[in-house]
Amino acid sequence: MYKRIVLKLSGEALAGDKEGVSFDDAVVSGLVKQIRQVMEMGTQVCLVVGGGNFWRGRSADSAMDRTKADQIGMLATVMNAIYLADAFRQQGTKAVIQTPVVFGTMTELFSKDSALAHLENGEVLIFAAGLGHPFFSTDTITALRGAELDVDGLFFAKNIDGVYDDDPAKNPNAKKLDVITSEDIVKKNLKVIDTSAAALCFERKIPVVIFGLNEENSIMRAVKGEKIGTLVTV
Ligand code: UDP
Repeated sequence: MYKRIVLKLSGEALAGDKEGVSFDDAVVSGLVKQIRQVMEMGTQVCLVVGGGNFWRGRSADSAMDRTKADQIGMLATVMNAIYLADAFRQQGTKAVIQTPVVFGTMTELFSKDSALAHLENGEVLIFAAGLGHPFFSTDTITALRGAELDVDGLFFAKNIDGVYDDDPAKNPNAKKLDVITSEDIVKKNLKVIDTSAAALCFERKIPVVIFGLNEENSIMRAVKGEKIGTLVTV
């Protein structure tokens, strides 16, 4: 049983399969329901939300200055966090958004002590705006906040059911891997989570589970330790 976790949700997870929408109310409400069940089991939950349903710096027009493109990406994660926090409010759970930079009254500034106090109080924490710096992704803040808050597991909910030895979209014989090491991710340059995130997990010995969000009750099953997705060992 995990005591404290960070769960990374990509921005696209909030949009579901619907074309042309940034948020799908029913999908987000289902996610919130599952996360509340995880909290009811006694696990403290921190969330990191991406911004890919709106914008990703690395996909922007190559003529665009990358720093500016990444700033838009970070702002996209803040919009997602505000939406997600309100979805928790609607189901009766207080959600607190913490960011590494000041957004006035919209979010709180991250601090380890206040983050831990919120968690002890039964609240869910949402980390937005990444690290506040360009050239990173929300994978890295997931690992960083996990290390700072001494979590016992990081969970990456993806639109694929785990890590494969080749791209399953291109190679029908690609095999799903049940277990890999964070060293494999860095050395073999596997594009599963960012190498900077994997390096931190390896150094701090934080286990990671990468699993598919589309599978039934997958968040709960992953956190309960069911064999789902791919376990990244250290
Ligand atoms: N981003 C950034 N620094 C960070 C985290 C995110 O510049 O520390 C920007 C970057 O442009 C990224 C975007 O925010 O593409 C959205 O984050 P991410 O790509 O991780 O979102 P996801 O693909 O998971 O939805």
